[in-house]
Formats: sequence, C-alpha cells, structure tokens
Amino acid sequence: MAIPATATEKKKRRRAKYILNIDRIPQLSDEEKKRLKQVSKRFAFRTNDYYLTLINWEDPNDPIRQLVIPQEREMNDWGRLDASNEASITVARGAQHKYGTTVLLLVNEACGAYCRYCFRKRLFMNDNDEVNYDISPGLDYIREHPEVDNVLLTGGDPMILQTPKLEKIFEELRAIDHVRIIRIGTKMPAFNPFRFINDPELMDLIRTHSRPEKPIYFMCHFDHPNELTEECIQGLKLIQEAGAICVNQNPIIRGISDDPDVMAELWNRLSYIGVPQYYVFQGRPTAGNEPFEVPIVEAYFKIEEAKKRCSGLAKRTKYCMSHEAGKVEIIGVDHQHIYLKFHRAKYAKDEQRMIVCERNDEAYWLDQLKPIPGYENEYYREEEKAEKGAA
Ligand code: SF4
Repeated sequence: MAIPATATEKKKRRRAKYILNIDRIPQLSDEEKKRLKQVSKRFAFRTNDYYLTLINWEDPNDPIRQLVIPQEREMNDWGRLDASNEASITVARGAQHKYGTTVLLLVNEACGAYCRYCFRKRLFMNDNDEVNYDISPGLDYIREHPEVDNVLLTGGDPMILQTPKLEKIFEELRAIDHVRIIRIGTKMPAFNPFRFINDPELMDLIRTHSRPEKPIYFMCHFDHPNELTEECIQGLKLIQEAGAICVNQNPIIRGISDDPDVMAELWNRLSYIGVPQYYVFQGRPTAGNEPFEVPIVEAYFKIEEAKKRCSGLAKRTKYCMSHEAGKVEIIGVDHQHIYLKFHRAKYAKDEQRMIVCERNDEAYWLDQLKPIPGYENEYYREEEKAEKGAA
C-alpha cells in the first residue's frame, strides 16, 4: 500500500498531476482496478495526485473516495444523461439561455477531476460535441440580448483553461456593455488549488476584469470540509484579494454531503473564509447517479438539521432543484405536503409561484411529485397536454 504524503511533503507540493487511468491508483487492488475499469469506460474517470492525498484509504466509505473513485453501482440502469433537458434551452452551440438575465457559456469539457455524480457527465463522453471552444456564436447571441446582465462560464470547468484563453473570453465579455457580472462555475479551488497559487497572471487578469460595478463571481463547488485544506484556503484568499467574490454551491450527495454534521461544518468553515453557501442542489436524476441520490424529503430534513448548527451567515443557502421547468426551491415539508416555490422559472407566469404537492418520501425529482388541486403550474399543464395528445 502507498504511504500517505506527510504534512511536509504536502506543503512542498506545488502542482497537481492529472491521472486518467485507474491503473495508476496504487491504493486500489488489481481486482478492484479490473472491476472499476468497466465503469470508467462508460463514465469517464479523471483525478489528480493532490486530490487523492485527501482520501483516507483505510476507510472504504471515505467521502473524497466516493467523489472521484468509480463504483459498480453507477452501471445500474437509472436516469437520463441530460436530466434537465439542457438541449431545449441551447440557443447557440455551447450557449444556454433559460432565465431572462443569465446566459451560460460552456467553454470547455474537462475538469480538475470528475465527480462521479456529475450531471453533465455527457460532456466527457467521446461522442459529445455540445461544448464550443469557439464561443463567438454564444457571444453574438449575448450581444443581441440586452436583457442579459450576467454570463456564467461553465463546462466542464473554465479554470482548466490556460490564462491567455481566459483573458480572451473576459475581454470579449467586458466589451459587451450590458454584461455586468461574469460568473465562473468552478471546482478547481477544491480539485487543484495550485492553479491559483502558481499563476500570478491569472490573479492580474481577475484584478483587471472584476470591477466595482462589474464584478467576477467564483461559483465554487465544495462538497465536504475535507476539501478545505491549507492550500485550498490560500488559493481562495488569492482570488478574493484579486477582487472576485466567492460563493459555494453543491448538490446533496449520498455518502459525501448527506450528513447534517458534514453540511454544518462545511457551511460554518466556508463562512469563516468569506465564501457563503449559496445553493444546495437536489441531485438531478442523471444516468449513473443512482448510488448518489437522496430523496427530497430526507434531504430537506437533513438540511434543516444542519441549519440548526450554523450561524445566520453560514446558513443563507437555498435548497433548490434545477428542473427543466425552472429552479424550484423546496421551502417546507409537513406530514401531508411538500411546499415548493419557483426561484427562477422557464415560463414568466411561474416566476415566484408556489406549488404544494402531496408528500412523497420516495420522490427524488419534481416529476414524481403530484401537486394538490389548484397548484398545477404551466409545466404540469404542458405535460398534461402532451399526455392527452399522445393518448
Ligand atoms: S466539477 Fe462540476 S462539471 Fe466537473 S465533474 Fe464535477 S460536477 Fe461535473
């Protein structure tokens, strides 16, 4: 068995080396490698040597291990590859527009490691061409839509891109006057903090383009307090000192973040370093994700329990489901009902609308919930029409 890196060795480490082949993980037995290789053939595998040092290999249920090491249950026939039907909101290759003010640009198709529960794992598959390295069609679309005041760079992870490439993207976005906010969806501070520690040019770039009334937001993705290492905190501090605002969003994932103690520790520690928890997402019913899913009711009560252990600053999060119909917040559960509210909606009529559904402790997703009479919304009406048409 490989000897874990000592604290001094970790301190000396200045960069992370990517690992794309499960055979290169010495802590796994030959038999495990053979079994898990089949899984990694279906859903891409990638990690790096820094992130692997966070795993306690003595514990088969270690949360960081669950996050990046494949497991055979991913092969269960469950869910869809594009669970929120992102194809339906794609307005140009690599650009999605669902909510009036926000456009997403998918700028690359790789991350610092691959989360086994990723809802965009389809991007990492060989036959996928949704990402556009040439973002000009998306930029043209944004130029023609003055209501768009913020653009989310996503993928994959934009922070994998080289700094000159990011510079070009930032410059093009800053040349569009109505774009006020650039958001960057990234797990790199967790997966590879050296990306920030080692690149002063990147910090200069953030300093140039994050302005008092046109800020850059880092939409960070931390799942577990074990990710908040010394190096990670150093990377976040550099980003903040360069003038960007950091927040955190992550899904509630079985075996990783579905424990109130873990959530409370994560949110409290994030509040100490100025990275407030922004959203907790319900896991999308994505193919391969059955082992990671937590039913809505269970997740709701665990999140409420975690909030009891947090300061007001640490528990500002909203628990939401990124459904095809919109971003739906789960605001309450009682013995009979689940109370939901559209935080963002696909249809203008649904904006801020409440939905009350019959309580269903088995449900993972909005489609499995039944609204009580009077609370059907546009989405359900559309579904109903489609069903009647098909009958
Ligand atoms: S960092 Fe985000 S996009 Fe990348 S694998 Fe994880 S969940 Fe997917």
